[in-house]
Amino acid sequence: MSNRMGRRLCLALAFVSWSLPVLGTAVLAGEGIVVYSARNEPLIKPVFDLYARKTGVPIQFVTDKEGPLLVRLAAEGTDVRADLLITVDAGTLWQAAEQGLLQPVSSPTLDRNIPTPFRDPKGRFFGLSIRARTIVYHTRRVKPADLSTYEALGEDKWHGRLCLNTSKKIYNQSLVAMMIAATGTEATETVVKSWVKNLATPVFSSDTQVLEAIAASQCDVGIVNTYYYGRLMKKSPGLPLALFFPNQSDRGVHVNISGAGITKHAKHKDQALKFLEWLSGVQAQRLFADANMEYPVNEAIAPTPEVAAWGTFKRDATPLVQAGKLQTEAVKLMDRAGYQ
Ligand code: FE
Repeated sequence: MSNRMGRRLCLALAFVSWSLPVLGTAVLAGEGIVVYSARNEPLIKPVFDLYARKTGVPIQFVTDKEGPLLVRLAAEGTDVRADLLITVDAGTLWQAAEQGLLQPVSSPTLDRNIPTPFRDPKGRFFGLSIRARTIVYHTRRVKPADLSTYEALGEDKWHGRLCLNTSKKIYNQSLVAMMIAATGTEATETVVKSWVKNLATPVFSSDTQVLEAIAASQCDVGIVNTYYYGRLMKKSPGLPLALFFPNQSDRGVHVNISGAGITKHAKHKDQALKFLEWLSGVQAQRLFADANMEYPVNEAIAPTPEVAAWGTFKRDATPLVQAGKLQTEAVKLMDRAGYQ
């Protein structure tokens, strides 16, 4: 085989292995909408299936981590397959928008259903569910009265008692970015350094590991997304863990979104917009948020009783585009502070 043929074969094989295996579909035949999703299949497929059943519009989807999905969108350029990008973090949606991978749309339905802080002012992405990143504590080793703010987890009384998920996790990058937005770089850096000083263990690679370490008394407090707490408590209801909602007398709890935007070169833009509008409505919101024990973004819909039982709290209302704008600064700050 000539070198050139060999190269062509390699390219062809690379294309096949890259394009085939991860495609799922809610309905097998026909034209329809294509979605690239960083949200897991079990959380999105029921929603896609319901839409396909109701409208006859099939939805094909690919799930992957957000990084590879953005690379894929950029590589496909004007030949993009996806009409819609779904991610689990506002910072990622902002990045996709800034890279020119999403297009602005205007929709009175989306504006009505989705509160301002949870959508891009330029209409390039929209939150579909809200996730709170809050404090979790060991119920026998910590009194809720000992807790107050994210910042206070850097106090000396928490020395050797704090567990954190890695700074590589986009959730922590967004949390720190929003702290920078609220209190500035210098104050945030001081706080992050004090967290690092208080760590009881090396950083973990998932929120669930943080919860398990606290339950096992390796540490007493940590920061996690509430739905990981919900999942673990469902599995092991007796664990000595509880949630605490910090910063209630100032900016409120850091919340993030799982959300979506229409791709720049979407082949089925009108259908994708209709689908997006439907996702923000009552029926889809129930499925989308409840499947993962999150908070519906549409305020007409209450969280489920099990989520409501965690308590109500004031949310940080700073527009989430800040999580994107300040993400690079947050990553550098955490690096300087020794947060791994
Ligand atoms: Fe998550």
